[in-house]
Amino acid sequence: MRSLVLIGHGSHLNGESAGAVYRYAELLRERGLYDEVVEGYWKEEPSLRQVLKTTRSTDVTVIPMFISEGYFTETVIPRELGLGHQGPVPPEGIARVLGGRTVRYTLPYGVHPSMNEVILARAREVLPDLSAADTALIVLGHGTTRNENSNRVIYRNAELLRNSGQFAEVHALFLDEDPKVGTWPEVVQAPRVVVVPFFASEGWHTLETIPEDMGLTGTVTCFPENPHGPQTVYYAKPVGTHPAVADVVLHLAEEARGAQGRGGDEDRAHAETWNAFLNLAREGMRLGEALITPHAGMFELRHALDEGRPADDLTTVVTPEGLRDLTRRDEGGHHRPVHTFRNLPRGWRAVLSEADLPRGVHNLYPTVVEEGYAHHRHTLRPTPWPTTARRQTGIYAKVQRATPEQVEAVARDVCSGCLKTRLWAGEKLGRTFFAGVPGAIPCPEACTYFIAEVREEVSGKRGQAAQGHED
Ligand code: SF4
Repeated sequence: MRSLVLIGHGSHLNGESAGAVYRYAELLRERGLYDEVVEGYWKEEPSLRQVLKTTRSTDVTVIPMFISEGYFTETVIPRELGLGHQGPVPPEGIARVLGGRTVRYTLPYGVHPSMNEVILARAREVLPDLSAADTALIVLGHGTTRNENSNRVIYRNAELLRNSGQFAEVHALFLDEDPKVGTWPEVVQAPRVVVVPFFASEGWHTLETIPEDMGLTGTVTCFPENPHGPQTVYYAKPVGTHPAVADVVLHLAEEARGAQGRGGDEDRAHAETWNAFLNLAREGMRLGEALITPHAGMFELRHALDEGRPADDLTTVVTPEGLRDLTRRDEGGHHRPVHTFRNLPRGWRAVLSEADLPRGVHNLYPTVVEEGYAHHRHTLRPTPWPTTARRQTGIYAKVQRATPEQVEAVARDVCSGCLKTRLWAGEKLGRTFFAGVPGAIPCPEACTYFIAEVREEVSGKRGQAAQGHED
């Protein structure tokens, strides 16, 4: 058995942020080359701290779904996964044995050499007859003064495409460092200019900042009076949302298989956990705010407060992904970064086979079954707040300065709206839903949403509208 884990950034604020990773996970599941494809996030659930617990096999390959190497791929992800590695990852990846699993960790997909073909595919989509006679290519990166690696991948791709001879000129330009994107009319001479954003997803930068900096009005924009004569700019979609990225991920995963290690069995603890859960589900059960009812060889999930409502009154989905999409927002349409917040929307039902039930429950309440069963068996080890705080780096390092009163103030606001019981703060949970108490769900470690709120508390900014970019 083999498990593939895709790691995304996610967001506490915006439900769309995880969308690209969801889509790749779905594409890769359809290919059927791995026994399972699981997603994990920095800012959503399952978190980086939790995701390895959710894998079924002892052979796990983890791919960071990031466009370049940097702070997340070299510091945050290895640290949170517990890989015992910090710093640059070698091209063949690294392998560790963790909790009986062989975990291989690769470079981010964006630095794989085959991304060159994805850039070309994006360029051809927007200008099918591009030509070395009259077409320039701009590979456009974010750039940052914080990490020199983030621009290296842009220069490398630009050079490879320049050497391919398919364009009259190829330029590497950036949003946040020199040479800046706004200089393009001076540096680009060809009459037709294709711009390919080397970005992971469609968002604020690709939809607003880049068009604004370049003076673009749509996919095709004419500039009749530029310094080098009339020019037409063809603006491509970002590379990170191209379906061919799924192939890049598979290349990376296969190349990492050479990394030392062994694995490939079904994880026994995982199998035992889910067998115990399925035995409960076959009898009918409540888990958190959800009701699970066996029916004609299938399982129906719905909000417990919708018990007895006719099926015709409810929106019905029949896949774990459908269940995920219906429950990612509350009834007001707001993103639910923590799935155990007591704001599960009503008005839906999911009808799932026994084979799909674990993934459906995972989408509804990530890691709740694994952690609930571990607590039920007295094997769940909580991580006290000071340990979590000490682990934080970068902009989150300041949570180490939070006083116990500040931590409790945040818990009163945040955790009181969550189904989980804070074992990490010393709260006790005698029985779990495995012993018939539906809302008894352990929280062994403060979640990233909580950590972010503590940071705001320490900064004196909590309660102010969150703005801009999340790190
Ligand atoms: S830290 Fe608080 S909000 Fe986060 S999962 Fe635990 S109990 Fe819920």
